[in-house]
Amino acid sequence: MVKVRLAAPVLQQNEEAARENRISFQKHGIFVLNLMSSPGSGKTSTLERTIEHLAGSLNLAVIEGDIYTTRDAERIEKRGAPVVQINTAGSCHLDARMIKPALEDFDLGKLDLLIIENVGNLVCPAEFDLGEDARAVVLSVTEGSDKPMKYPLIFRQAQVVLINKMDLLPYTDCDLPLLEKELKSINPELELFQISARENTGFSPWLEWLKKQVKIKKQTADQTS
Ligand code: MG
Ligand code: ZN
Repeated sequence: MVKVRLAAPVLQQNEEAARENRISFQKHGIFVLNLMSSPGSGKTSTLERTIEHLAGSLNLAVIEGDIYTTRDAERIEKRGAPVVQINTAGSCHLDARMIKPALEDFDLGKLDLLIIENVGNLVCPAEFDLGEDARAVVLSVTEGSDKPMKYPLIFRQAQVVLINKMDLLPYTDCDLPLLEKELKSINPELELFQISARENTGFSPWLEWLKKQVKIKKQTADQTS
C-alpha cells in the first residue's frame, strides 16, 4: 500500500506561519504593517516618503514583495532603510511562510516598525494573514472611484486607506466624496488619509497614526515580557 499524506490546506498552513510571525513581532514589540494596493497606485512612492519623514524618529525596516524584480527594493535601500526582497516567482501575493525566513535578515531587537509591501493586487493578498498588526491600502484617484465596491474584501480588512495622487484629482473623473462614502460603507472604522506622494503633501495625519500604533505596540510588548 502506498501511503498518501495529504498536505494541510494552504490557508491552514498559512495561519500557523502567521501565528509564529506574530509571536516574534510581539516579543520584540514591533508594529507590522501590511501595505497593499493595485499595481501603479504609488505604494512604493508612498513608502519612500514615509521612510523619509520617519528617519531619525523610528527604526523602520521593509520587506518588499515583488513577482520578479528587485526594483522597488533598490528604491527603498536608497532611502536608507534595511530592506529584504521576496521574489514570489510568479505568485501574485505574499504568504506568511515567505515572511518567516526574511525576518532572519533583520536585527529584530532594534526595530520599531516593519512595513511589508505586498505584491500589487487587490484580490488575493487580502486572503493571506502575514502576522501583521494592521493593513493599509493605497488607492489612487486615477484608478476610478469604483474600486472599493469591486474589491470590498481588501477594504473591509484594512484599518487605513491612503488616497494617493491627490494632485491629479482635477484631471480625473474620480468623485472623491462618493469614493470616501463608499469606503466607509464597506468599513465604517477605516481611517482615510488624502496624500500626494509625488508632491509630498498630506503625510502628517498618516505619520501620526503610524507613530501612535508603534507606541501602543511597544506598551503591550513591555507588559507581556
Ligand atoms: Mg511597488
Ligand atoms: Zn495571489
